[in-house]
Amino acid sequence: MHYDYLVVGAGLFGATFANLARSNGKSVLVVDKRSHVAGNIYTERIENINVHIYGAHIFHTNNKAVWDYLNQFTTFNRYTNSPIADYKGEIYSLPFNMYTFNKMWGVKTPKEAFEIIDGQRKGLGIEKPQNLEQQAISLVGTDIYEKLIKGYTEKQWGRECSQLPASIIKRLPVRFTYDNNYFNALYQGIPIGGYTQMVENMLDGVEVKLNSDYLKNKSYYDEIADRIIYTGPIDAYFGYKLGYLEYRTLKFEQEILDIPNFQGNAVVNYTDSETQFTRIIEHKWFEFGKDDDGHELPRTVITREYPCEWVSGEEPYYPVNDRKNSELYEKYVNLSRKQDKVIFGGRLGTYRYYDMDLVVSEAMSLFDCVGAI
Ligand code: FAD
Ligand code: UDP
Repeated sequence: MHYDYLVVGAGLFGATFANLARSNGKSVLVVDKRSHVAGNIYTERIENINVHIYGAHIFHTNNKAVWDYLNQFTTFNRYTNSPIADYKGEIYSLPFNMYTFNKMWGVKTPKEAFEIIDGQRKGLGIEKPQNLEQQAISLVGTDIYEKLIKGYTEKQWGRECSQLPASIIKRLPVRFTYDNNYFNALYQGIPIGGYTQMVENMLDGVEVKLNSDYLKNKSYYDEIADRIIYTGPIDAYFGYKLGYLEYRTLKFEQEILDIPNFQGNAVVNYTDSETQFTRIIEHKWFEFGKDDDGHELPRTVITREYPCEWVSGEEPYYPVNDRKNSELYEKYVNLSRKQDKVIFGGRLGTYRYYDMDLVVSEAMSLFDCVGAI
């Protein structure tokens, strides 16, 4: 059998591309080295709860085309992400908003909050923030930086805030309103029935081979398709010959508890530096504590998330987009330009922190470009 496309990776990028290729009459084979589809958005049903096995995933987007596209394969529930921060037992609202400022300083009005932040910011004389620490203090002042940002960020990234790029913290909204919605997105939710079911629907009618590592059988796979869409790590494709790109990885500690409610919220961040984990996810609250038939669930599943430095053989999660790694990535991009049959996509193929909606929109754009050929 010869295919128009071989898609390496059954994650969201690969599934989107494969779905579009198939619906446009192309022949396509998807291979994944894991034993399941859906890549990192994989969910598994445990105690009737869809557990996010590779970390919590909340879909959010402003892109109507992406939203409409995915709604062909699932119905999203009305979940709105409102994580809370636990700093040594004190509970704060996230993202940083009037509820946070009220708890931190007892202020009631935006003007009062702004004056406190402005005073703390001016005290440090930061003109143009050069790193995450300066950016964070410029946005929310020193108290919030010390209690809610510094410990969490240094655990998450394993580097001091002064050594990290300002862009990381700019992902979070800062609001002078009483609004706990973590995202500024028009559309938001969690697929009813889980992400795995959504991806299975996307791959309906597509030939998929699991437990199959493309790189271990590369010359065979290269022969059987006209083009290859590769969503694995770009440095692995080239046998790491220029060196390893660095990642942060995560260790997940999962527990089933014989109680109905452990923490009363899907996501609780531990923002002090002493607690080893960054957050605890209680998966049932992504679905309002109910099963698909609307019954209350008697038990609960929680996951503690421990970030650590990636070493070869572990799952790469967060690319470390500092200068050293960005330069190395560019060298791999130059090599990839010589591979005219292969297109690199997705978060590992392009070494980028990508939200899910961007992954879908990039896969759609790629198909628009190459699918017509
Ligand atoms: P992946 O899901 O990683 O898929 C790549 C696939 O390729 C994998 O299944 C892998 O097994 C396979 N593969 C690799 N190499 C080979 C090979 N040699 N042969 C065969 N198969 C191979 N985004 C959001 O929008 N909202 C969130 O709340 C959110 N939370 C996140 C939380 C965490 C902890 C992390 C790390 C990311 C989060 N994201 C979130 C981002 C989201 O996970 C990604 O956008 C998305 O999963 C990327 O899809 P992908 O297909 O590019 O990659
Ligand atoms: N962040 C923080 N405290 C929090 C939540 C987030 O300092 O309670 C910072 C941290 O640097 C993090 C960044 O904001 O890396 C982006 O947060 P996001 O939730 O997007 O990502 P993640 O927590 O998965 O890194």
